[in-house]
Amino acid sequence: MNVYRAPIKDMLFVLTELAGLEQIADLPGFEDATSETVAAILEEAAKFATEVLDPLNQSGDRQGAVRLADGTVRTPTGFKEAYRRFAENGWNGLTKNREFGGQGLPQLVATPVEEMWHAANMAFDLCPLLTQGAIEAIELAGSDELKNAYLPKMVSGEWTGTMNLTEPQAGSDLAAVRTRAVLQPDQTYKLFGQKVFITYGDHDYTANIVHLVLARVPDAPLGVKGLSLFVVPKHLVNSDGSLGIRNDVNCVSLEHKLGIHASPTAVLAYGDNGGATGYLLGEPNHGLEYMFVMMNLARFSVGMEGVGISERAYQRALAFARERVQGRAIGAVPVAGPETIIEHPDVRRMLMTMRAFTQAMRSAAYVTAAALDNAKHHPDSVARVAHQDFAEFMVPIIKGWCTETAQRVANLGLQVHGGMGFIEETGAAQHVRDARITTIYEGTTSIQANDFIGRKTARDGGRVAQTVIAEMSETAKALVQSADANLVSIGRSLGLAIGQLKMSLAWVLSAYSKTPREAFATSVPYLQMWGLVCGGWQLGRAALVAAHKTSSVASDREYLQAKIATARFYADALLPEVSSLGAEVTGAGASTLALATEQF
Ligand SMILES: Cc1cc2nc3c(=O)[nH]c(=O)nc-3n(C[C@H](O)[C@H](O)[C@H](O)COP(=O)(O)OP(=O)(O)OC[C@H]3O[C@@H](n4cnc5c(N)ncnc54)[C@H](O)[C@@H]3O)c2cc1C
Repeated sequence: MNVYRAPIKDMLFVLTELAGLEQIADLPGFEDATSETVAAILEEAAKFATEVLDPLNQSGDRQGAVRLADGTVRTPTGFKEAYRRFAENGWNGLTKNREFGGQGLPQLVATPVEEMWHAANMAFDLCPLLTQGAIEAIELAGSDELKNAYLPKMVSGEWTGTMNLTEPQAGSDLAAVRTRAVLQPDQTYKLFGQKVFITYGDHDYTANIVHLVLARVPDAPLGVKGLSLFVVPKHLVNSDGSLGIRNDVNCVSLEHKLGIHASPTAVLAYGDNGGATGYLLGEPNHGLEYMFVMMNLARFSVGMEGVGISERAYQRALAFARERVQGRAIGAVPVAGPETIIEHPDVRRMLMTMRAFTQAMRSAAYVTAAALDNAKHHPDSVARVAHQDFAEFMVPIIKGWCTETAQRVANLGLQVHGGMGFIEETGAAQHVRDARITTIYEGTTSIQANDFIGRKTARDGGRVAQTVIAEMSETAKALVQSADANLVSIGRSLGLAIGQLKMSLAWVLSAYSKTPREAFATSVPYLQMWGLVCGGWQLGRAALVAAHKTSSVASDREYLQAKIATARFYADALLPEVSSLGAEVTGAGASTLALATEQF
């Protein structure tokens, strides 16, 4: 078994050359994010990922989390200790507010670190991921009392957090949430209901777990406008901050899953013994608004899971391809010893596809992370709005495209292994199983695509989409004007893809109002098109930088040439897929819907 090694060189290249780390470090409050500090943080995180998290990835998958007879949950061997070290090292509070003990670093810096956690051990990282979301929500909408009682301990990692949206009848459609919250004379609430699929809903890492629960107060409006958000701790917290009595929330079972076995996915029962004590967060009936704010970041993080697992799958496949001896490769440079499968042209195709997709996703995601920082911290209000628009446009792409692409990458990784890929011991099969959930939770790909054609494309008449297209076109123009034949070729492919994107955008804008069912029928290919082109755009930018640096700086020539070659492969082999997606978007809506329901 090879070990996961964080691709620090590529991460730093993307951070500095594409996502503008220097500009982010100039923003008020981010002065600490100098390139030296960031490089040191990445080195430390990489060490933790390789030495602590990675060794538990496969054993955690085999052992899984279990619910014991007394209703408590035991995580796999080593996970509790790893979590303790994770929290002690301060990794939980990287981006969090200094007021509550966080380090206040930019999202851009946390993003590669997060990629490492996902890659090293996705099942482990789900716990901090959900805690981040819960912290965000309390910070956004909580009273000072709630913030002071919960945030310092959640930021330090002493307590963890969960997100409780889903119920048996309410998955994608949260309007169907039924959990009830009844106001008590002391202004607390009693909650009654059942939540399912709750990630790290119970575990043995920490003494307390802070559940954020969507529920309805009596007489609340129907639908999503009647949802309120509550803080429901596993143990009540005394006024001096110490832990009080056990709350009426219990893990009644754990799900048996396809992947991420080490992360407990719990069914939680609220109020079986008189009601679970909860505290209203913000205003009643505004729960979904608050959830959406934190969901934006959680969706981005799940997109990053796609990037992380792709990198891991690529590294594993590459190591196997360098070792496995099989056949003579056509036309390969003869070698003295046995020839390994990396010499076979089709194995090269698979590895290049994995590599190019992973680098494209990483680049698009880090650029989005920078926009999230600028949207909050840029001193100019007009710039803040522009960055917010861009980030909101990109989040469903990062979630929808990176996670769908991760399926492809993980599957190719398995294929590179041949029969051994199907056998669990190589780890390639686990990548496929673990990656599979990413297109489902935090909103399925369909839900991302609905959001993307509706709120992100049609609502503003395509304004933000056009702005992004204009920026992409600038990159294509710069590439085509280059003296380098590789860059010219990348620019031409990008230009063609942008042309197809424009046609699809025009079609979506018209169909959204005229034939909305058709627009929704091809919303996923429309989203995937955008992902593919954004990936090509960022790799095109990377190629421009790499070409410039190769001619001016001798160091790292090999890395920079490989960057250009990877971008060229993406442009030659992957960007042309935009054409068939475009044909599907503009032409397949009606036939998708041609059968009557009873004809299936
Ligand atoms: C391992 C795991 C961990 C999870 N963790 C959490 C958690 O921590 N907290 C939490 O609250 N939830 C969690 N979930 C729940 C998860 O968010 C939901 O499973 C997901 O949102 C989909 O809901 P559903 O399963 O009810 O599927 P459904 O909503 O029933 O969807 C079924 C199918 O119909 C499609 N569909 C539904 N509505 C539409 C629509 N409007 N347009 C187009 N297609 C549609 C879906 O895309 C999907 O293909 C988790 C789930 C799993 C499996």
